[in-house]
Amino acid sequence: MLRMRYARASLLNHLTSTPAGHLSPTAEDIETLYQEMINMGEEAIAIFAFSTWLIAMPVLGALIGAKKGSVLFCAFLGLLLGPIGVLLALAYDGNIRKPCPFCKEKVHKEAIACPHCQRDLPAMWSSIK
Ligand SMILES: [Zn+2]
Repeated sequence: MLRMRYARASLLNHLTSTPAGHLSPTAEDIETLYQEMINMGEEAIAIFAFSTWLIAMPVLGALIGAKKGSVLFCAFLGLLLGPIGVLLALAYDGNIRKPCPFCKEKVHKEAIACPHCQRDLPAMWSSIK
């Protein structure tokens, strides 16, 4: 933005300092202005990509994490690794399932009986280790 203003100012300066009757900007002036516009476009794309990474990836991670009982961990994965982190969060087993103390199959931590070995789970088993 600043560079754009600078280019416009220098173009105006050139125009006003040229003797009357020769008010056309030089090819170089136009080229400078054009180049500045291209640079601005590239900057805008870079800023957009960066803010997408910085905002969308942790938000996606947090949304996935919310379903797995670890919002912060999954948000952090998204922030740190971007799309790869989001995929890892999807693959992450989360804190919701814990191994059954008898058959070691993963069971929802609020379950009162194991769906694999059918045994009753002891009270508070999921909070032990
Ligand atoms: Zn079991």
